[in-house]
Amino acid sequence: MEKRGRLYAGKAKTVFETADADRLILHFRDDTSAFDGGRTAALKNKGAVNNYFNAHIMEKLAAAGIATHFEKILGDNESLVKRLDMIGVECVVRNIAAGSICKRLGLEEGLVLDEPLYELFLKDDALHDPLINEDHAVLFKWAARDELRVMREMTLRVNRALQALFAEVGILLVDFKLEFGRFHGDILLGDEFTPDGCRIWDAATRKKLDKDRFRRELGGVVEAYQEAALRLGIDIKV
Ligand code: ADP
Ligand code: UDP
Repeated sequence: MEKRGRLYAGKAKTVFETADADRLILHFRDDTSAFDGGRTAALKNKGAVNNYFNAHIMEKLAAAGIATHFEKILGDNESLVKRLDMIGVECVVRNIAAGSICKRLGLEEGLVLDEPLYELFLKDDALHDPLINEDHAVLFKWAARDELRVMREMTLRVNRALQALFAEVGILLVDFKLEFGRFHGDILLGDEFTPDGCRIWDAATRKKLDKDRFRRELGGVVEAYQEAALRLGIDIKV
């Protein structure tokens, strides 16, 4: 697929147009950021590890009947995807309390929730991605009510599929963030599923295998992503 102009450079990926108006190339960079861009670094091989990780998860989700934008890997750092009209709302599911919910509600990290908790955030770094509800999203026209219903159902289905997948290899799926977009009348899962956008812990030791290693300066960030990938049987070519 012929790569054309750069459409957008985000904090971790660069998005390119292609000769096909309905297809984009996602380039996974080594850049990583936390605290809404407040801390940044380039971590060697992170881009390639995330590209292979994301491809594997997207293929598993497609096999579980979840419609995604992913088409194929093009190279170590690049994948071809369907071009979506992105919905600027982040869909989060939590199985175990960690991160912002602990601060917000005074919970202890590690509290196992009785059932998955679904939350919505506005994707807006300048506003620090505030927590919103579906009524905000409808009122301010970020998404329609029926789109939000589909996003919620798909997010909870992703949670069930991936909890099982990770459990098989001794990993707890603590929480994750998804982004969706519109494609010719359908809602598809977009963006990525990688350790940059989820929390995953070793089930026995609770060792963190995700971006909290970067946020908390624990070191071994890419090594931990690779460890999770290896357990999942992902063939990383770098
Ligand atoms: P951020 O924008 O949060 O800094 P990234 O660096 O990951 O994030 O940039 C990727 C951008 O591409 C995000 O804004 C994301 O919403 C967007 N995106 C992801 N998948 C698609 C897609 N299939 N079509 C259009 N845009 C997409
Ligand atoms: N997340 C993300 N991008 C964001 C915000 C959150 O990928 O802009 C992910 C994050 O990695 C975690 C989950 O969504 O797996 C829940 O994040 P939380 O609300 O706890 O925020 P955090 O404290 O991680 O910023």
